[in-house]
Amino acid sequence: MAKLLEGKPIAEKIKEEIKQEVQALKHKPVLASIMAGENAGAVSYVKSQTKVAENLGIEYKLHNLAQDTSEATLIDFIKKLNADKSVNGIIIQMPLPAQIDYKKISQFILPEKDVEGMHPVNIGKIVFGKAKILPCTAAAVMELLKETGVDLYGKEAVVVGHSEIVGKPLSLLLLDKFATVTVCHIGTSKAGKLEEHVRTAEILIVAVGKAGLIKGDWVKEGAIVIDVGINRVADKIVGDLEFEPAEKHASWITPVPGGVGPLTVTMLMRNLVEAAKLQQ
Ligand code: NAD
Repeated sequence: MAKLLEGKPIAEKIKEEIKQEVQALKHKPVLASIMAGENAGAVSYVKSQTKVAENLGIEYKLHNLAQDTSEATLIDFIKKLNADKSVNGIIIQMPLPAQIDYKKISQFILPEKDVEGMHPVNIGKIVFGKAKILPCTAAAVMELLKETGVDLYGKEAVVVGHSEIVGKPLSLLLLDKFATVTVCHIGTSKAGKLEEHVRTAEILIVAVGKAGLIKGDWVKEGAIVIDVGINRVADKIVGDLEFEPAEKHASWITPVPGGVGPLTVTMLMRNLVEAAKLQQ
């Protein structure tokens, strides 16, 4: 039976490290958060980010912009925050109103203030193994893997999902640890090859957003399984993998919820401290 790989205790450990780093900084770090319009999802993220920031000694400044804010206005606002030396990091809350293209506007955040780690400069640094600011979810997965104590060198790692925020950066981070990385996606499924690849995985990471996509009996004996997926099924939150049958084969497995999720806000705050250090 697999050991449960929970995010919360790891997050608590990292938060203690962050607290110490915050105290060593010359100034209290400031995270500027932009929310355009009112959305229940964004409001709930902001609430949890505010709480974590407070606990770590980070100042969280929320900027509420109107629902009808134009792209040009938002870009000007970002430029102001870029120029403001008291601001160490900038985050844009999702979802944004329909008239705003996140990909377009997020590029205006200076790479050294990009606490989500999604600016092309920060993504590019991952390729060179030099990134200090990492995409939060991918970084959370790497922390979970670190907790198992398993050396990734030469291991067969299979990542299912190739999104810009999870699968792609994660595959680069795994390569940096010398894992042999296979990335699967919708094309793999359409070619009927998903099961074949998943069965080879010593490290299996799934980030798709489809409940039950990965069958529990595809999991290799002793595999480490990380389920990033979040799906609402009959009022319950489940991952992309059939948990009960999978835990019979895996050596480690993340619960959903409670695996990756609790770590992502912590990764955001760690990025902020890295950003503040870079700016010092
Ligand atoms: P996305 O929609 O951007 O990408 C989905 C990926 O899955 C794509 O690469 C696509 O090709 C692949 N895919 C779709 N159908 C497939 C199939 N049948 N077989 C194989 N691959 C398939 O998604 P995302 O933003 O990366 O998020 C993925 C999941 O992770 C979602 O459930 C999301 O809610 C969750 N997520 C969780 C956290 C967290 O903090 N726990 C953070 C980010 C995303």
